[in-house]
Amino acid sequence: MTQTKPKAAVIGAGFGGLALAVRLQSSGFDVTVFEGREKPGGRAYVWNDEGFTFDAGPTVITDPDCLKELFALSGRKIEDYVELLPVDPFYRLVWEDGDVFDYVNDQEKLDAQIAARNPADVEGYRRFHAYSEELYQKGYVELGAVPFLDFGAMLANAPALMKLQAWRSVYDKVAGFVKDEHVRQALSFHSLLVGGSPFATSSIYALIHALERRGGVWFPRGGTHALIRALVKLFEDLGGTIHLSAPIQKIATRASRVTGVIRADGQFEAFDTVASNADVMHTYRHLLADDPRGQKVGKALEAKRWSPSLFVVYFGLKTTHPEIRHHTICFGNRYRELIGEIYDKDGLADDFSLYLHHPTASDPAMAPEGCSSFYALSPVPNLKTANIDWSVEGPRYRDKILAYLEKHYIPGLTADLVTSRFITPDDFVTDLNAWKGAAFSLEPILTQSAFFRTHNRDDVIPNLYFVGAGTHPGAGIPGVVGSAKATAGLMIDDYRPA
Ligand SMILES: Cc1cc2nc3c(=O)[nH]c(=O)nc-3n(C[C@H](O)[C@H](O)[C@H](O)COP(=O)(O)OP(=O)(O)OC[C@H]3O[C@@H](n4cnc5c(N)ncnc54)[C@H](O)[C@@H]3O)c2cc1C
Repeated sequence: MTQTKPKAAVIGAGFGGLALAVRLQSSGFDVTVFEGREKPGGRAYVWNDEGFTFDAGPTVITDPDCLKELFALSGRKIEDYVELLPVDPFYRLVWEDGDVFDYVNDQEKLDAQIAARNPADVEGYRRFHAYSEELYQKGYVELGAVPFLDFGAMLANAPALMKLQAWRSVYDKVAGFVKDEHVRQALSFHSLLVGGSPFATSSIYALIHALERRGGVWFPRGGTHALIRALVKLFEDLGGTIHLSAPIQKIATRASRVTGVIRADGQFEAFDTVASNADVMHTYRHLLADDPRGQKVGKALEAKRWSPSLFVVYFGLKTTHPEIRHHTICFGNRYRELIGEIYDKDGLADDFSLYLHHPTASDPAMAPEGCSSFYALSPVPNLKTANIDWSVEGPRYRDKILAYLEKHYIPGLTADLVTSRFITPDDFVTDLNAWKGAAFSLEPILTQSAFFRTHNRDDVIPNLYFVGAGTHPGAGIPGVVGSAKATAGLMIDDYRPA
């Protein structure tokens, strides 16, 4: 690294922004993070209501190694900052007809549950798992942190992707291995966790299965935000600076080079290089509004497919619920049709499938003694797809979800309710600058992946970089932490002394 440290600004303190900041600071950059909100975390924000801790977003922590690596870069250990608790089962999957499938990391238990539904699917599952392993090696280990800046990189990998049939959807591939519809759902729902429809997303995303089987599913003691706080502390221990409540208004450019950032009060601060962890559309259209590049790319992004949004209701109960696992997927009666409507229909479906989060199952301190905290998440259309007045629909939808949970899974919920809050697609726009409320940025379809996703370094402004869900490889904690590795690699190379 040069004698004077390169000065880098990172806009946004989501998982991607923090991971990039840690990597750069560990590599000799002088890094300042600017976060618009008063707490770091982005999607991984947190609320503390009446003694209940509600993590706003990510709760399923996979591939702990990608997090450990961030600490190891400077010879530190993650366990000195945060404790990761194993979650077992990974998920409990439940259907309205009473069927229950515990998605565990124990081959015998998995086989027994699959055999009870369709004995032939046990062998089919084995072949699926082997396929998922191949995807994992190619898509995650080899390509997960590679910046796809030119089409050549895409072409070089095309034969391998063809061999893996990456053009087929996750569900399509899964259906080729197993016949039971519930097992098909159990093996295909994962892409929804990163914003992709199992019916449209490249089968590459079936690698999540191998990722979970290899690395397990974890939950930080104190909640996901404890992991965010650990990353902030690590960054500060390394000498980095983080400003909270510090929204950036503009990225300043001159002659197609970034010169610095302009804060909300108009104050300019000079930087050698800037990396944006903010929404890619927000970055191009608003932060680069004064540069021709901003409007040009903004227009191109508008034509893309954007991931759905989410409605999430957070609630605290004055009772405990040991019968409810940490992660439950509550499938409704429709799967393909419902998902189709969430992605493409102008309107809200009458039914839903929910992800129910119950953190007190792993860490009782997430609620006052004798109480439990939960959230229920329902994927809903983004604001580009559906014109829904969430100020009217929000409270109704909350009541509908709580009534559904009370009827099927948590009797007495209403009487035991201590506190609740919810977020709608509108909150993704106002709190996170997420275009059209898309919860996972660009939809992860093949034609919007790798080279076709926002590049980790801008093609025209050479000292402007991107990190986070809108860049390669995409959303989800392992995804954005991988994008930070790809982006940091470029920046470290670009600023290597001659
Ligand atoms: C409800 C929910 C549940 C999820 N569950 C999981 C899960 O269980 N497991 C998993 O792996 N993934 C999950 N995900 C996905 C995962 O949370 C995200 O993909 C990931 O956290 C996104 O990280 P990011 O780095 O892209 O940044 P973000 O979290 O989007 O952060 C970007 C940051 O930039 C800031 N910002 C924006 N504009 C500006 C500006 N102008 N100036 C300064 N700052 C700005 C924002 O305030 C924000 O803090 C979930 C997502 C949601 C919403």
